[in-house]
Amino acid sequence: MAADYYELLGVDRNASQSEIKKAFYQKARELHPDVNKEPDAEARFKEVNEAYDVLSDEQKRAHYDRFGTMDGSGFGASSVDFSDFFGGGMADIFSTFFGGGRAGGGQVRTAGRDMQVGLALTLEEIATGVEKEISYDRLGTCETCEGTGCAEGGEVVTCSRCGGTGYVTSVQRTMLGTMQSRGPCPECGGTGTTISNPCPDCEGQGRAPMRQKLRIKVPKGIREGQQIRMAGRGEAGLNGDTTGDLLVTIRIHQHDIFQREGDNLHMRIDINMLQAALGATIVVDGIMPDEKVEVRIPAGTQCDDTVKVNGKGMPRLRSENRGALIAHVWVEIPKKLTKEQREALEDAADVFGTDFDEERSLIDKVKDVFTG
Ligand SMILES: [Zn+2]
Ligand SMILES: [Zn+2]
Repeated sequence: MAADYYELLGVDRNASQSEIKKAFYQKARELHPDVNKEPDAEARFKEVNEAYDVLSDEQKRAHYDRFGTMDGSGFGASSVDFSDFFGGGMADIFSTFFGGGRAGGGQVRTAGRDMQVGLALTLEEIATGVEKEISYDRLGTCETCEGTGCAEGGEVVTCSRCGGTGYVTSVQRTMLGTMQSRGPCPECGGTGTTISNPCPDCEGQGRAPMRQKLRIKVPKGIREGQQIRMAGRGEAGLNGDTTGDLLVTIRIHQHDIFQREGDNLHMRIDINMLQAALGATIVVDGIMPDEKVEVRIPAGTQCDDTVKVNGKGMPRLRSENRGALIAHVWVEIPKKLTKEQREALEDAADVFGTDFDEERSLIDKVKDVFTG
């Protein structure tokens, strides 16, 4: 049983968007693994993110309110891929935002990171190419201070604690004498500068969490797992430094009829034994809108034979050519025959010189019942 999204965020069912956002940042602060060392903090952090992803999007929220679940909603398309949530990528949105990352030591990263989202499409959409709008959460340039991190009258000043070097040296007495160690300056987080009057909306970082909407043009013929790079649509840099890219990873829904293999499409085609023996042209729906494809079954086709129709598969990426449609033939044997059909087949059997069982009369069948 999935947890209730409203309960997870601790808001009531008619909470406004700003209440939801506020509750989410509150929870994210509490549960962030940099801060919260309880063993289930990471799992709970992910749940809270999932809840926010749904409730902060009016369309998704409406679906959730109606069905109480997001299963089968078709909304998978724009959800952020959290697979590497704590290995970099998205995790740093929060760690840097909440100060966890900056004090962590080592070289301070001021450029924004690349982010990744998944985009799930149907095979039909891939066949024609499609334009899709996605929405995702990122740290974007703070609108209040336009990325400078400074409030009215604020300015970037050299850090007084480290004198602009970004490092502080501490001295420890040990058994072996005094030891010096160097670490990032806690005052400026290693950047060497501070802001005299920081922007209240971004705490002087020049970037703030926001929901981003973006139109993505997907070229026809793209493969599962391929990525589209949207330059400058990832995480904004610290105090106006370079923004990372957004990588959109293509996922393809399973199709009821076609299986894709490279640029070829495989399908099953059912014919009867007469069509298999005599040959027939079967018309099937192709992958393109309103497309009809003629599959020519040659005389003497066996069960499990394949018939290839060139140029009726998936479009090749950046090309006007298409792969092949490959029909896997399944021969059906009629399970019931009318009297005429039976006679016609018996005549045919005579011509072929084939032995067959005579049809048993109704009287014979009744006799069987009584004689056991
Ligand atoms: Zn700001
Ligand atoms: Zn400093």
